[in-house]
Amino acid sequence: MRELLLNWYAKHGRDLPWRHTTDPYAILVSEIMLQQTQVDRVVPRYLAWLERWPTVETLAAASTADVIVAWQGLGYNRRALNLQRAARAVAEGGWPDDLTELPGVGPYTAGAVGNFAFGRDVLPVDVNIRRIQERTGEQFDGSCTQALFDLGATICLARIPRCEICPLAANCPSRGRRYEPERKQSQFEGSFRQRRAVALRAIAAGEAAGDDEAVASLAKDGLVVVTPDGPKLPE
Ligand code: SF4
Repeated sequence: MRELLLNWYAKHGRDLPWRHTTDPYAILVSEIMLQQTQVDRVVPRYLAWLERWPTVETLAAASTADVIVAWQGLGYNRRALNLQRAARAVAEGGWPDDLTELPGVGPYTAGAVGNFAFGRDVLPVDVNIRRIQERTGEQFDGSCTQALFDLGATICLARIPRCEICPLAANCPSRGRRYEPERKQSQFEGSFRQRRAVALRAIAAGEAAGDDEAVASLAKDGLVVVTPDGPKLPE
């Protein structure tokens, strides 16, 4: 299966900008952005980010307010803070062996950075990879990671897998099966998350946020600082 998968990937793999680098900083930026944002939306933001802050040192030295503003629209803004905290930690002490020591880096992201930047044989198992492993009954090694990402995103889809064009179909015990719809992601519209986003945008624009509860929650996460003149982005 591994060979079939890698042959398929060589022909059909997606050309994504972070696949052309082994720079751990660039990989970390891509992985943090991809944690909760779709690939198509991440690509232009990733490129713009690296143009503005091409190295760990430049991001570490940036003002946190600029970093938060640059993250706007990607969602889950705490990721921006953590990314800068991680950059500051690396700028000061280098890359730790255990990447989960960096803020915002859990086992999955550590596995991805370890694999793509440091050449470690780790398979970072996300929801797509887990699905393919369960359906095929196969355990893949770290060299299959990008191929599995693409197979999960384009062929072995959650509900109606496209087995008819799948390179693994001949050996897959789940070939032809259909699956129940998965639980929908919680709605953004009308959510507290949306209120936080609106408040943060207002504060970034120097306007009144007008939502004390959202501001308090943003302040708790370190995304804003409450001053006598009202909430502000951190310096
Ligand atoms: S044959 Fe179907 S279920 Fe099996 S890996 Fe391919 S797409 Fe997924």
